Amino acid sequence: MTFKRDIHIVWFKRDFRWHDHAPIRSALASGENVLFVALYEPSLWNEQPYDERHERFLWDSIRDLNEIAGKEVVYFLKVEALEFFKRCLDNFRVKAVYSHRETGIGKTFVRDKDVASLLNAHDVSWNEWDYGGVKRGLKHRRNWLKDWYDYVDVAPLHTDINAVQALALPNPFESWQHSQSFEPHPYFQKGGASRGERVLYSFLTERIKRYAQSISKPLASRKGCSRISPHLAWGNLSIRQVWHMAEVVELAGSKRNQRAFVDRLRWQAHFIQKFESACSYEFRPINSAYTAIDASKIWDQQKFDAWKNGTTGVPLVDACMRCVAATGYLNFRMRAMVVSFYSQYLWLPWEAGARYLASTFTDFEPGIHYTQFQMQSGYTGVNTIRIYNPIKQSFDQDPKGEFIKQWLPELKGLPLPHLHEPWAIPPMMWEMEQWNIGAYPKHPIVDLSSARKHASDQLYGIKKTKASKLEAQLILEKLVNPRAKKS
Ligand SMILES: Cc1cc2nc3c(=O)[nH]c(=O)nc-3n(C[C@H](O)[C@H](O)[C@H](O)COP(=O)(O)OP(=O)(O)OC[C@H]3O[C@@H](n4cnc5c(N)ncnc54)[C@H](O)[C@@H]3O)c2cc1C
Repeated sequence: MTFKRDIHIVWFKRDFRWHDHAPIRSALASGENVLFVALYEPSLWNEQPYDERHERFLWDSIRDLNEIAGKEVVYFLKVEALEFFKRCLDNFRVKAVYSHRETGIGKTFVRDKDVASLLNAHDVSWNEWDYGGVKRGLKHRRNWLKDWYDYVDVAPLHTDINAVQALALPNPFESWQHSQSFEPHPYFQKGGASRGERVLYSFLTERIKRYAQSISKPLASRKGCSRISPHLAWGNLSIRQVWHMAEVVELAGSKRNQRAFVDRLRWQAHFIQKFESACSYEFRPINSAYTAIDASKIWDQQKFDAWKNGTTGVPLVDACMRCVAATGYLNFRMRAMVVSFYSQYLWLPWEAGARYLASTFTDFEPGIHYTQFQMQSGYTGVNTIRIYNPIKQSFDQDPKGEFIKQWLPELKGLPLPHLHEPWAIPPMMWEMEQWNIGAYPKHPIVDLSSARKHASDQLYGIKKTKASKLEAQLILEKLVNPRAKKS
């Protein structure tokens, strides 16, 4: 009989940090060898909603973990999860696996079920912890808010890095090592807990002063908002660490700005909890009365490509789409506007748009993304239907056209106010001024006012039906905190 070494496995999922990490703490408490791993699973990562920008972020995050540990102790392995665990079981006596529960996409849920069956068949316990105050198997939201406050109020857990160094196992699977390295990217946010802490600190102590005035603006938000979203989405920071940091440091800015930020931390968990309780958000309208509307939409590849590539002829929408593809970030209002444009003006089926946009956000968080995408498409029957006017947004949020000019250089020569709506320029003026906008469309690819009216008639029409109201009631009961009527 061959001797098998005892090991414990910590599986990093969307929780790339050392501290405030119950699975790590528990594995270290065993006092035995621990294998720390993160998996790059080709079947998952090679397609949307994932993208190379997410892979980079993880790669940075793992390097940061190792820098903090003072040596390589966390391994990034390119292998399917099931294959990894099978090999571990073949080579070691696996005493337990430790991880957070992942509120992920359908594919990760199925994968977790397969891993659970495998471990179960070998009598290996998989110790999983709820993540960020989000609970699995919740039947209603009556006590959710109180429980969430109780959760975030507890001090974040500390991890003893000396114990990590002492117990970490050398990499037993060198051949799976994710060997690709990445040059720094000019725009994408870099991952890592250390960076996340710095970004948060600079926000709370200085940048927060401009929060309210920047939050809706595509350009100002890039500095005036916290920009911690990818660090939260990939777990470089826990929501509890952010919550406590906001209490501990001397906050700059007005009470209003501070409250607005802290409210959003609660929203983060609230949306992820909705998705945890109703993961069908990823695949179909949460209010099934809207399924027929979505099914009646006709796929139009040209419209989709124009939206994706930023050539719809509506400058602010196009600037946003080019910016997010290049940088991985857009502020909330601009995200909502590009979704409204896609689902309502272009009248395209929601799922392909949601998948593409997710692949562009470095902070892709399934729980926030799919719920928000449906909400901004007007598909819930619960929320106020918002059909954003992209021209008004352009004048309001980018009055000098700086953001538009940055991302649509072909429009640089157009003076204000024409930059916001080139189609309103009289033909005689085009002739006299000889403005050259290259191949950029002189007119939007859809007529904005009739597209808006069509979407409004359709969406309000369904919202009034008995079926929609009934479903809306069920959604409110199951997924929304009863004290806050709308979400
Ligand atoms: C269609 C659509 C898709 C979105 N997809 C994502 C996503 O995949 N991942 C993601 O993190 N956010 C998503 N958001 C929410 C929001 O746009 C981003 O959280 C925010 O822009 C991130 O920037 P920030 O960190 O500077 O935010 P701040 O304004 O500084 O807010 C701090 C944190 O609060 C949370 N937060 C802020 N706004 C919201 C909100 N409306 N709902 C829930 N949580 C919020 C985020 O974790 C954010 O990092 C989406 C919004 C829309 C309309």
